[in-house]
Amino acid sequence: MLGAIVRETCGLLVPLECPCGSEGRLLCEECAALLAAEARRVEAVCDAVQIVQDVRVRAGEDGAPAGVDHRALLPVMALGEYAGPLQDLVLAWKNGGRSHLVPLLAQGLAPAARALAEAAGEPDHGPDPVPDPLPAPVLVPVPSRLGSRVRRGEDHTAQLAAAISRRTGLPWEALRGRLGEGQEGRTARQRRRRHLAVRGGALSRTRREGAPVILVDDVVTTGATLRASAEALGRLGIGVVGAVVVASARLPATRTFP
Ligand SMILES: [Zn+2]
Repeated sequence: MLGAIVRETCGLLVPLECPCGSEGRLLCEECAALLAAEARRVEAVCDAVQIVQDVRVRAGEDGAPAGVDHRALLPVMALGEYAGPLQDLVLAWKNGGRSHLVPLLAQGLAPAARALAEAAGEPDHGPDPVPDPLPAPVLVPVPSRLGSRVRRGEDHTAQLAAAISRRTGLPWEALRGRLGEGQEGRTARQRRRRHLAVRGGALSRTRREGAPVILVDDVVTTGATLRASAEALGRLGIGVVGAVVVASARLPATRTFP
């Protein structure tokens, strides 16, 4: 009886309709399946996160053809393509106040965040190994506009980061300052002692503990925002180990996993 009253009352307030338009449920089975999909790597189709690694005017001695090699600045993981029902879901979440979608989005992205965190914790085989393991990465929501702040509970990407944090146990932290105001170390050694040296700006916990960052965003198109965020955090001496996003404007032709 009470349940029926609640359902009817809620039905008046929120149309019992999935963002895709199918009626009768707040989220239809097809759309629930989209959110439960395994996240895939999409950085290869994000032009703005590509950085030139090697340029060969002629074929290399090892048989590599002439050309330009790129590698991605950071891994980017998305639940699917920003089109059709997934686009409807993202828009309903961003603009339509459908906050009940947040835990479902977080559930979908949690394994990706865990995978990035595990990859970040693996030993560095570089020439200058870090003696102590890095602390767990911090989830950092990308502000709607760079230079604006994310506040707890007031921004949809902050809500998503908080929900992924609850699922994974990874900490999350909103940017308190503005990206791009940090100080850059003059030498590599100074930059490595990042969290000790940086004053002002963003992410006090990250600076204090030297933790790297996993960026959290709604949609990636070229990856320009992710790159700008990663570079701005890099100027603060904070490493970015990857990004999780709900949807990508494009998907690579073949699926790859980290
Ligand atoms: Zn639906």
